[in-house]
Amino acid sequence: MKVIDLFESKPVLSFEVFPPKPNVPIASIFQTLNELKTLHPDFISVTYGAGGSVPGASTAEICETIQKQHGIPSIAHLPCINETRESVLEKLGQFRRCGVENILALRGDRNPEIAPKTDFAHASVLIAFIREHGTFDIAAACYPEGHPESPDLDTDVQHLREKVQAGASHLISQLFYSNRDFYTFREKLAAAGIGVPVEAGIMPVTSKKSIERMVSLCGASIPKRLAKLLARYANDPASLKAAGLEYAIEQILDLTENGADGVHIYTMNNPDVARYITDAVAEDLGR
Ligand code: FAD
Repeated sequence: MKVIDLFESKPVLSFEVFPPKPNVPIASIFQTLNELKTLHPDFISVTYGAGGSVPGASTAEICETIQKQHGIPSIAHLPCINETRESVLEKLGQFRRCGVENILALRGDRNPEIAPKTDFAHASVLIAFIREHGTFDIAAACYPEGHPESPDLDTDVQHLREKVQAGASHLISQLFYSNRDFYTFREKLAAAGIGVPVEAGIMPVTSKKSIERMVSLCGASIPKRLAKLLARYANDPASLKAAGLEYAIEQILDLTENGADGVHIYTMNNPDVARYITDAVAEDLGR
């Protein structure tokens, strides 16, 4: 099933998972999926690490399990910074063999230790290439606070428009903690003539370490209210987690009230967190 069709009956609820790291048993991801399935997400997306994947639990194979075993649509992420046209064609072939119909086309993060390949300078080039070579439904990433490499949000939105013009049918946002940023971003998209559905990316705060890591990686800002919670519970991990989950729930309820096309929860392969949040927002998301 093409994920774009899901937005006809919005708001969409989706989850993101990642393939197991080499030091983690492969079975863990399949156990996670068994549990996530019971929460009835509209689709599950599977990340693609720049460092390759574990045989038996690659992005394509996990997508295959999500679809064939659990009957849930999936999206395979595909970063292109270290790829050539030939290697992307191989990957598209593997996706096809596994029944993958949806791809989140990404550039990928720069690694100072690896010189990027030159075939795909931006995600928009990958999107056009995938479009030329199949019938995949293509999603793209977007950044409510602007991509960290972009000089400003308006410039980033102009480049986002190139991704939509190249064939991205919907967008999934980077995590953010201020809904106001997301609403301002939506206004900028409308002004730029970008009318495709945009899912809001929600990363629940579950520990001080995890939020510090995420914020340093993607540059998301921490609004005052969240900063206060982090300070208040700096030495109380259980209370911090409880407050972080409530914060995510409030964010989602507010987004739903304000007509968000969908909510994409970064589950970090933690079904308990996904369950707690999904149970709390299910009614408001019409499920
Ligand atoms: P692009 O759209 O190419 O944008 C990157 C930068 O280039 C931006 O600053 C943009 O403004 C600029 N730009 C774009 N076009 C032009 C142009 N024509 N001229 C000049 N500048 C331009 N990474 C992974 O490795 N694996 C994953 O599975 C993964 N999943 C992700 C899922 C989501 C929902 C998100 C939001 C990010 C994900 N990422 C993943 C991270 C992503 O790869 C990085 O954020 C990366 O730095 C940018 O990717 P992009 O596809 O947005 O790039």
